[in-house]
Amino acid sequence: MKPKFETLAIHAGQEPDPTTGAIMTPIYQTSTYVQSGVGEHKGYEYSRTGNPTRKALEDCLAALEGAAYGLAFSSGMAATDMVVRLLKSGDHVVCGNDVYGGTFRLFDKEFRKFGLHFDYVDTTDVEKVRAAVTAETRLVWLETPTNPLLNVSDIQAIGGVLGGLPERPLLAVDNTFATPYLQQPLALGADLVVHSTTKYLGGHSDVVGGAILMNDADLYARLAFMQNAVGGVPGPMDCFLVLRGVKTLALRMERHASNAEAVANYLSDHRAVERVIYPFHDSHPQAAVARRQMRNGGGMVSFTLKGGKTAALKAAAATKVFALAESLGGIESLIEVPAGMTHMSTVGSPLAVDPGLVRLSVGVEHVDDLLADLEQALGQA
Ligand SMILES: *Cc1c(COP(=O)(O)O)cnc(C)c1O
Repeated sequence: MKPKFETLAIHAGQEPDPTTGAIMTPIYQTSTYVQSGVGEHKGYEYSRTGNPTRKALEDCLAALEGAAYGLAFSSGMAATDMVVRLLKSGDHVVCGNDVYGGTFRLFDKEFRKFGLHFDYVDTTDVEKVRAAVTAETRLVWLETPTNPLLNVSDIQAIGGVLGGLPERPLLAVDNTFATPYLQQPLALGADLVVHSTTKYLGGHSDVVGGAILMNDADLYARLAFMQNAVGGVPGPMDCFLVLRGVKTLALRMERHASNAEAVANYLSDHRAVERVIYPFHDSHPQAAVARRQMRNGGGMVSFTLKGGKTAALKAAAATKVFALAESLGGIESLIEVPAGMTHMSTVGSPLAVDPGLVRLSVGVEHVDDLLADLEQALGQA
């Protein structure tokens, strides 16, 4: 019997250390490896090229995404950068129109100057994706659910549209918000899954990292070549932290989601709240797609207040359990106002978010404490 997700999260890619029996993968804090003769080694020569702690992480994350291959990077952005490097000047990319602000910044401010062309479309509408694809399109970049609007795109339907094209573009999915516990894009027709492991996979707000998971051997060979050639690799300590984090991913995602659902329900009943966004909430425009492709609604909740931006800034400054900070996916609850924090790079662009939008990363604290904190903060706003 193939091990289930929870078992893979704890064991995949990890064997007790053969020299000592250490049950946890050691942090191989080394840059180089002794050779018994010129070119004769045990599979490791230099730690940019390969490191055993990194290899354990790459194999574990691949197993969790149902992928044949995994590659780890120094950040989610370094992983995203690698995917775009598969393209060449003149190629066209169709990208979601409310992707992570840093993804938009990388595409718009870095890759455009190398002659790549980007179109940003509403990927929740499969027909808009179909209409945006040209003869030069080589990559479709999806994020689902998106950051911070939690829009949900139908991965399987978009994969189906691309599959019908004479020259099928690559389909890459940023699975950071959902994690492989909720959603496995490769099984839905994606070619590449990208993660910021900084978020739920690490899960403890103590590491920055990224990963790419895939089934295709040729894509793996090209990306592994670039991983070594470009060098945006994570250090062994960072790999260890993510490996440790994923061991509890299933447990954490269950609690994140049950707390987030309670928060979404609480907010939607609150008189000061204008709109609540949560993928599994009945009011969500893509709730049906979300329920089909995700195991639960995840830990992120966004909302707007009737008092607009002023009330949003007051509420964000008034919470005590929810810390006012960027990032997400850790065990602790965070609150932020994307327009002034994580998504500043989109201000004035077509991707700009409502200045009154508040984003919550709902942690795994006791739900009563989270609801009481929101109650007092909304009272002040
Ligand atoms: C944070 C994030 C990234 C970027 O990852 P880093 O690890 O910060 O480089 C990419 N996509 C999404 C959805 C994110 O939330």
